[in-house]
Amino acid sequence: MSGAKQRKRIAILGSTGSVGVNTLDLVERHPERYDVVALTAHSNYQALAAQAMRLNPEVVAIADRQSYHDLKAALAGTTIRVLAGDEGIVEAAAELADWTMSAIVGAAGLKPTLTAIRQGGTVALANKECLVCAGPVMMRAVAASGATLLPVDSEHNAIFQVFDSTNRDRIEQIILTASGGPFRDLSIAEMRLKTPAQAVAHPNWSMGAKISVDSATMMNKGLEVIEAHYLFDMPDQQIDVLIHPQSIIHSMVAYVDGSVLAQLGAPDMRTPIAYCLAWPDRMPAPSERLDLARIGQLDFSAPDVSRFPCLQLARAALIGGQAMTICLNAANEVAVAAFLAGKTGFCDIAEVVETVIAAATAWDCETVDQIIEIDQWARTAATIAIDGLGSAKLASGDDD
Ligand code: NAD
Ligand code: MG
Repeated sequence: MSGAKQRKRIAILGSTGSVGVNTLDLVERHPERYDVVALTAHSNYQALAAQAMRLNPEVVAIADRQSYHDLKAALAGTTIRVLAGDEGIVEAAAELADWTMSAIVGAAGLKPTLTAIRQGGTVALANKECLVCAGPVMMRAVAASGATLLPVDSEHNAIFQVFDSTNRDRIEQIILTASGGPFRDLSIAEMRLKTPAQAVAHPNWSMGAKISVDSATMMNKGLEVIEAHYLFDMPDQQIDVLIHPQSIIHSMVAYVDGSVLAQLGAPDMRTPIAYCLAWPDRMPAPSERLDLARIGQLDFSAPDVSRFPCLQLARAALIGGQAMTICLNAANEVAVAAFLAGKTGFCDIAEVVETVIAAATAWDCETVDQIIEIDQWARTAATIAIDGLGSAKLASGDDD
């Protein structure tokens, strides 16, 4: 590519999180290329204010209203607009940007991501939960606005890089690789005793707490099967999962002639994020270079769904329909939060999700309001299921 590069206006939704910080790391290495126009966070106003002081965006938004005055005070003397609450995040997402990183965690990212998509620019999507609960609405919004949706999730980014969309009927299978998480080789009895600190200590990737727990239960891979289904318009039967503990092959696409194309790299999110930032060009990223001779060996095995039931629950939800995937996601968010807060055990996460999706029926999911209503129903059902687990344990005298 030649010629002077145009400056890009960048918005980062969830800028204080793991993906947000990695995105800013790349952006700040190229101040000649990017103007950061919007940054958002949940409640960490100090981190958001520090980012804003460095990057001087047009607007910042904090979801937690209690933090508004502190954030405003920290940015006194600047011209930065300060917004708060969920509407503030949505308003920041509407700031006209050429490129938006969607890196809020959970279904909370749905409205802001949809807002960014409706602006018609490029949206780099890390927030898989919003696709899991609203895939059809989001893909329709992409088509209507002409936005470009680029996958940030390392597996989907890998697939995107080797997916021949001009020959999509010659694609036999998408193969999502999975590290297997920190409990890959443990028995159910061993997993039952695991603490939040042990669950978030991922062997290969440094990520936010929620996705780290999802990796440990393998719900993350289940959510990614659903994400791949929507992003690449592939049916469940053509999306396979393969355990690959080293996280070097980020995913693969198998073609009818027997060719399998893969994308490889060190496990560092700055590679897929750089791909999305520069697309359709490429830009340098500081990720460690792949030294296959040093790595020596790559291992593979089939996932064990009897020890990791979340993978199967996600597939069942995908087959069961969108209301079920909304419930899967919401119940999982509630159960993971309860586990992280020490209120429930690691293996209870799958149990809660199973209970909630079993109660789901084929509700209409045409609009965002309907989706949010189902999401809220599932959150309440999950909370009740968690309380039920607690009282069942009390009744049986089980205090672990
Ligand atoms: P994180 O917890 O580190 O960061 C989440 C960000 O969202 C923070 O900026 C937080 O302030 C903000 N946030 C949280 N709740 C919010 C709310 N209710 N309203 C508004 N903002 C809110 O999470 P992460 O690891 O950066 O992951 C972000 C998303 O990217 C997730 O959907 C995750 O599944 C996906 N993802 C992450 C990685 C990774 O390497 N971390 C890889 C692939 C995909
Ligand atoms: Mg992933």
